[in-house]
Amino acid sequence: MKMYVCGHINPDSDSICAAISLAYLKTQLGDEAIPAKQGEINPETKFILDKFGFDEPILKTSYKDENLYIVDYSDLAQAPKDIKDANIIGIVDHHKLGDITTTTPLEGWLRPVGCSNTIIKDMFDYYKVEIPKDLAGIMLCAILSDTVIYKSPTCTKEDIKATEELAKIAGVKDIKALGMEMFLVKSAVKGATPRELITRDYKDFDMSGKKVGIGQLEVVDLSVFDDMIDDLFKDMKALKEEGKRHTVLLLLTDIINEGSKLLVVSDDKETIEKAFGCKLENSMAYLPGVLSRKKQVVPYLEKVFATI
Ligand code: MG
Ligand code: MG
Ligand code: MG
Repeated sequence: MKMYVCGHINPDSDSICAAISLAYLKTQLGDEAIPAKQGEINPETKFILDKFGFDEPILKTSYKDENLYIVDYSDLAQAPKDIKDANIIGIVDHHKLGDITTTTPLEGWLRPVGCSNTIIKDMFDYYKVEIPKDLAGIMLCAILSDTVIYKSPTCTKEDIKATEELAKIAGVKDIKALGMEMFLVKSAVKGATPRELITRDYKDFDMSGKKVGIGQLEVVDLSVFDDMIDDLFKDMKALKEEGKRHTVLLLLTDIINEGSKLLVVSDDKETIEKAFGCKLENSMAYLPGVLSRKKQVVPYLEKVFATI
């Protein structure tokens, strides 16, 4: 069967590497599987693909009448616009179950682990297909990215086990050093426009009928943003108006000290304070221990938005 394998909009390293790794597995199993992306890749992903010698997946945003295997999401808000006209043949995901539905039966690999590539590693084992050295390298990097080098509360024993096995195949001796190398690339924010930064790892959510956008930048030192805060706020306001959003949040995450500075542009700041039990100062708050948008931000917001 001819199919495309593609992750979410504003692709992160997991979405891109999962498209490549799952397309490789499906090809080995006899399908014609083509890895695709819905948007341009970020500097971290470029570093990963360059390091292990992979081309970028093709850019494809329309899937009418195509077979599509989706990876790393199950929300309509993160899908191609014409996904209703696509034939969704499978999902690999590690997020909360979203609102995508299908008209025909599909293959599903959904698990509460730290990364889609951890699930795909298990798929390789299940089908007894060998993982090539370079492919193991990008799968390893995707897991280190999504789990913030094991620090994220989303990281599970299975993720750690998968990275150890993948590192062995890829010939990577120091896993954490590779992770740090990657996050240093990710921390280079100078020269990027505020819009590039806000949307680099950005997701829109429907929270009880209100549109809430949340961006996140994970860096090794928050001082890289010192001169940018005003410009970031200005553009968050513009983004909010453009998309008629109720709220735009930006998490500036310090992966070394393990916490996030939260920037808030909202019609209702009190609701945001309530969600995190914090007091905003100049529309900002520091949230100690918060690293994961999926586990430590979105559920708390959804809870309070359900009450307003
Ligand atoms: Mg992702
Ligand atoms: Mg992921
Ligand atoms: Mg992430």
